[in-house]
Amino acid sequence: MSAQRAHVHVISTGGTIACQPVSPTQVTGYSSFAFTADQLLAGIPGLDRYADVTAEQLFSVGSSALSDENLLTLARRVEQVLASGGADGVVVTHGTDTMEETAFFLHLTVHSDKPVIVTGSMRPSSVLSADGPLNLLNSIAAAADSASRGMGVMLCLGDLLLSARDAMKTSTYRTDAFQCMEGGVLGSVIGAQAYYSYAPVRPHTLHSEFSLGRIESLPHVEVVYTHIGCTDLLLRSAAENGCRGIVIAGTGNGSVPPVVRDFFSAPGRPVWVRSSRVPGGRVGLNGGVDDEALGAVAGCGFSPHKARILLQLALTVTNDIPRIRDIFARY
Ligand code: ASP
Repeated sequence: MSAQRAHVHVISTGGTIACQPVSPTQVTGYSSFAFTADQLLAGIPGLDRYADVTAEQLFSVGSSALSDENLLTLARRVEQVLASGGADGVVVTHGTDTMEETAFFLHLTVHSDKPVIVTGSMRPSSVLSADGPLNLLNSIAAAADSASRGMGVMLCLGDLLLSARDAMKTSTYRTDAFQCMEGGVLGSVIGAQAYYSYAPVRPHTLHSEFSLGRIESLPHVEVVYTHIGCTDLLLRSAAENGCRGIVIAGTGNGSVPPVVRDFFSAPGRPVWVRSSRVPGGRVGLNGGVDDEALGAVAGCGFSPHKARILLQLALTVTNDIPRIRDIFARY
């Protein structure tokens, strides 16, 4: 922890951590976002030993309901809190369903080296063995710790500190749902003390070229999942409705069916990224598919939903395919 007492600001957005189900064993099927940010903090005994903590309620929603506008609002608020000098670190409480996307968006857009930690819980905060209170305490302790500076945005759940670039939700119900497939676990938090072993090497936060000041709205990008029997129905609909980009969740090494190749071979199509529906590994340029001939961008190691965030941001700075390929390769 830093020599001076740190100030951590908590921004609540809803999610399971804020839910109060009807019984102490109801771990699914709840929906009321009853706990405010202040109430969540009041549920942590001895919190003032770790930092001066303030809180605000920005949204009260399940994370599957969040919009691109919500992402921009949240990122702007985080950046503002950190830039004002009012906080040494920020913790965002968030539903786990889309936490990966929000954290990655913050990782690429918030220009600050102060700690930003995103947390939530798999169980509502009032059920037996709730994971939310400890996740929140660990996150606040990590955000108060000067060792967390410059690490980019992290997720803190299940005692782990995971880079927002790599973290993925891997279970619909387990409390150890968040994992990284190949690198990205930066450290752990044990007894509200962060221990780091690794640091991210790819650009983020202060070194990211994406700037909230230059973004009014995010371009429309859809993800289309391919499968046996896939048609171009969804692709045509996306293009006809003005999508600027399409991420293909392809099979294996980002392979796509002939109908998808044919669709993108026609002139004037949206920018497209080949990612994979396989959770691990990497889709590299011209790996199995001739990206240069098809005008495709290889999704590198990003999941389809993270590739969507990166493509949206890339499209705010360029439409040039080689440059977008370069962005995917570097981030
Ligand atoms: N439905 C919840 C959400 O808002 C799930 C969770 O938070 O674990 O994402």
